[in-house]
Amino acid sequence: MLMYIKRVEKLRKSKVGYDKEKCSVSDCTAESKRAISSKNVKVALPSLKFDPTGKRVYLCKEHYKQFKKATKTKRTLETLTWD
Ligand SMILES: [Zn+2]
Repeated sequence: MLMYIKRVEKLRKSKVGYDKEKCSVSDCTAESKRAISSKNVKVALPSLKFDPTGKRVYLCKEHYKQFKKATKTKRTLETLTWD
């Protein structure tokens, strides 16, 4: 349980304090909602093209939805492992 609480705190902190950026997907000009490791995004959404971003990829609401959908199976497995 303690581990779970720490994890949530970490997630909260990571959401605060990143600068507003445009979505990193080429041809998309929406404002980004999430910053995600570029490695994870490229594995989950290999069909999309991204502007050069370095370590992090910024995704708008729509592209984040696609990313979440693509990683849903993996996330479920990870959640089961945590408990
Ligand atoms: Zn986008």
